[in-house]
Amino acid sequence: MATKMKEGAIYCAKCDSEMRNVLLPTYEYVEGHLLSNVPAYKCPGCGNVFFTEDQAADMEQRTKALVESTFGFQRKITVTGRSLAVTIPQELASHMRLSKGSTVKITPITSGLMIRKVKA
Ligand SMILES: [Zn+2]
Repeated sequence: MATKMKEGAIYCAKCDSEMRNVLLPTYEYVEGHLLSNVPAYKCPGCGNVFFTEDQAADMEQRTKALVESTFGFQRKITVTGRSLAVTIPQELASHMRLSKGSTVKITPITSGLMIRKVKA
């Protein structure tokens, strides 16, 4: 460690410049899950980006929340009698508190179909 280093300062591993605390407009901590306004340290010299352990833990937490909010399953349509049917996986059924005999309402929306539980 060089003596010129200030306490609490983070220096670029590539060019030794003091890194600045910035807010990245977007960052993909996990591929396919884009986070916005991500706190990080950025080198003003070479543009190298660094995350502290706390910042990485925060990104991990935010990515997890993002994954849970986009929780979904891909299913193939089957046929039952003269109707088309989509099966609901057990994991999703229990998450939505659906069981045999539950009533749902299917509504066409711009992006597809919305299935909503009808309260008994
Ligand atoms: Zn640098």
